[in-house]
Amino acid sequence: MDYFHYLGDRLHCEETGLDRIAEAVGTPFYCYSERTILRHLEAFERAFQEVDHRICYSVKANGNLAVLDTLVRGGAGLDIVSGGELERARRVGCPGDRIVFSGVGKTAVEINAALDHGLLMFNVESLPELHRINTVAGVTGRVAPVALRINPDVDPRTHPHISTGLRRNKFGIPHGQALEVYRLAMGLPHVQVVGLDCHIGSQLTELEPFVDALRRVKGLLGALREAGIPIRYLDLGGGLGIPYGQGEAPPSPEQLARALLAELQGLELAIILEPGRAIVGNAGVLVARVIYSKEGEEKRFVITDAGMNDLLRPSLYSAYHTILPVERHFDREEAVADVVGPICESGDFLARDRLLPVFREGDLLAVRSAGAYGFSMSSNYNTRPRAAEVMVRGEHFAVVRRRETLDQLLENETLFPEKAGVTPT
Ligand SMILES: *Cc1c(COP(=O)(O)O)cnc(C)c1O
Repeated sequence: MDYFHYLGDRLHCEETGLDRIAEAVGTPFYCYSERTILRHLEAFERAFQEVDHRICYSVKANGNLAVLDTLVRGGAGLDIVSGGELERARRVGCPGDRIVFSGVGKTAVEINAALDHGLLMFNVESLPELHRINTVAGVTGRVAPVALRINPDVDPRTHPHISTGLRRNKFGIPHGQALEVYRLAMGLPHVQVVGLDCHIGSQLTELEPFVDALRRVKGLLGALREAGIPIRYLDLGGGLGIPYGQGEAPPSPEQLARALLAELQGLELAIILEPGRAIVGNAGVLVARVIYSKEGEEKRFVITDAGMNDLLRPSLYSAYHTILPVERHFDREEAVADVVGPICESGDFLARDRLLPVFREGDLLAVRSAGAYGFSMSSNYNTRPRAAEVMVRGEHFAVVRRRETLDQLLENETLFPEKAGVTPT
């Protein structure tokens, strides 16, 4: 459920017309609905209310400070995967005891910064990383709280690029080595074992893979308990899918909770979840303007001012995003077209072979379900400044990230210095 809807013939975010925003900030821009973000967070909170739990929103889905601030004020914690995301967490005042730090390649600098801020736990993805954390914490005489991320070897039945819980994926510690690595961790002076973590992939539309993964790690939890290794937190990751408009019917947070909690009866653990997409995916749209409408020999193309540098998912995963006209005209015909961007790549498209109202030059269109992995995966390819980001609250809106300027885009570049032999510093 989200708050993008037509009022009269114009598409609104909450009570704000998208055309009004386009007038004020130009295009392309991302638009987020604060009410939708909070509603989705609340759905997770309610679903897990009967158990000790913490919802740690996955920052990489959409790290805009206003989005993070909304969620942290709403009571969420954060799941971070880099020193950069830690800085975002710091800037919105997220308390350390609500932060989990995931990712396969944490550097010593990032580990140290996280220890400085304080965190609930590192989700450790390998034995070398465990040793690195122990060493870094030891330098300042600290003890780092850790969970081991276990790869349960479960097929999440999602797109191969976003599956992470299979044996061949780079993530986590293989299930078969887990007990041995836990024993080793118990012997390290500067880490404290506090949890077990498992995240198997993204855009999961069925419950079974979640339940399969949980059953796999449950056996391990029993073995850990027998070995006297204390597990306080069970982090079940993110990955809950959303409807993109192709008839997907992913489980609701409530259905997910019911399936998971049934398996967890009697285990005295605090549950951590790391949803990203399920919170922000349908809380955002990308609004673009039609530059040209072009009749090719075989196809019709709608060329917009947003491209794959703004929204990579269609090009990267062949992802489907619903496209809506910002202004509905009931007298317009429909025709099949590709909606493409201005980038010099044939892979630059937002929609392919889609039956849409016939768009004309200057029309605005909205790409739905663009709140997750939209702006956060955008780039400057073709020297295109990144889009503006706008947040709506009721009938008010605010630019929460200004459109990048060409000066900002180029400011770190220089020509090769005149004087030969000058060593750059
Ligand atoms: C990406 C990621 C998430 C969030 O995944 P969603 O599919 O957006 O819910 C959670 N945890 C980890 C470790 C991740 O890498």
